[in-house]
Amino acid sequence: MLEKYSSQLLEQAVTEFAKLPGIGRKTALRLVLHLLRQDTEEVTQFADTVARMRREVKRCRVCHNISDSDICPICSSQQRDASTICVVENVRDVMAIENTAQFNGLYHVLGGIISPMDGVGPGDLEISSLVSRVAAGGVKEVILALSPTMEGDTTNFYIFRKLADYDVRLSVIARGISVGDELEYADEVTLGRSILNRTPFKA
Ligand code: ZN
Repeated sequence: MLEKYSSQLLEQAVTEFAKLPGIGRKTALRLVLHLLRQDTEEVTQFADTVARMRREVKRCRVCHNISDSDICPICSSQQRDASTICVVENVRDVMAIENTAQFNGLYHVLGGIISPMDGVGPGDLEISSLVSRVAAGGVKEVILALSPTMEGDTTNFYIFRKLADYDVRLSVIARGISVGDELEYADEVTLGRSILNRTPFKA
């Protein structure tokens, strides 16, 4: 049931906030009333920042991680080892692995994993661009760091087949995380260790 407000504008704002994940109408109202107490400039800056972020953040042309520029800071860094590519499902996985400070290579963000149940096929993911990166040369190792689920295994195997003709080492992160756990929820120490203790991929 909708609460009755004395302001339609306030009600609209509450409705917008309540669309956010994990935000119910009660919390939305609390946030909106908080904003109402702020300076106009502050709230304008808040709204501008969100709108600008949405408008201007893009995908790195190389690894498809989020970036403010065409090529992200990781891909353009001279400090990173460009001969190693870590394949992950999404940008949150990049953040999680970066937080471990145990990996100094580059990434490749697939944008999901193969999931016939959800209608996600290889063509919906950034797999051919991964093959192109390997085909371009200079890549010695590709680390598969997908969730240890059936979908992750399927995707690993598909990538394995696609890269079979190239002279590149294929490895998988150690299964420190129990099956079914999302990669992004693994704690940093475990995740860092599972990258260091990676093993050759076996089909
Ligand atoms: Zn990049």
